[in-house]
Amino acid sequence: MPEILPGVHLVEGVDPSPDFSTHVYLLKDKGASWTLIDTGLPGASTATLAYLTKIQVAPTSIKKILITHLHRDHVGSLKVMIEKTRARTFAHWVEAAYIAMDPKYDGPGTPPAEPVVVDETFKDGDAIDAAGGLIAYHTPGHTPGHSSFYQAERKLLFSGDLFFGGGEKPTLTPPEYTLHTPTAQISARRMARLSVDSLLTYHGGPFLKNGGGAMRALTQTF
Ligand SMILES: [Zn+2]
Repeated sequence: MPEILPGVHLVEGVDPSPDFSTHVYLLKDKGASWTLIDTGLPGASTATLAYLTKIQVAPTSIKKILITHLHRDHVGSLKVMIEKTRARTFAHWVEAAYIAMDPKYDGPGTPPAEPVVVDETFKDGDAIDAAGGLIAYHTPGHTPGHSSFYQAERKLLFSGDLFFGGGEKPTLTPPEYTLHTPTAQISARRMARLSVDSLLTYHGGPFLKNGGGAMRALTQTF
């Protein structure tokens, strides 16, 4: 299911094994350019580039790469994708420091394997001119600068690892991979107040319909 919604592609083949599901999203912008959200593990770039060939999109058509957070399964192919696309890169200002490994991240989850200095840092509520207009929301808890991206017109929420889609319903990402679960709960409650149809999780899911209802049902449990 590569194009899961109009202009929203779930890049095929990026997972190293069937029991480790990662979702790199490729978004069609207005005009001829594209945006990538997260990049997968080291080596996932091979599958992403093959997918671009398959859908006849030149790598250099990707003009922006947005990063939800520092973990290696999100930034592992960032350096290669920058080289292939020449895209501008974006991350929250806290997370950008950890992606640059300055300082090295010492929280749970796997840190980056190599430093990357992103081009642009954002803060909570900043608009990003991509995919018809995204709002970057700081959604800390899983990591300090974890962020989600919201497309208000189409009611899409790209939630990174705030939510986890391993089962029929979204949950929070398990505590063993999360810096501070109570903070993630606060972030989840805030995102549950948005009007969301499609909740686009990174691991498992996505939940294309009634994502808002699923978030509200979850946040009522804590
Ligand atoms: Zn993570």
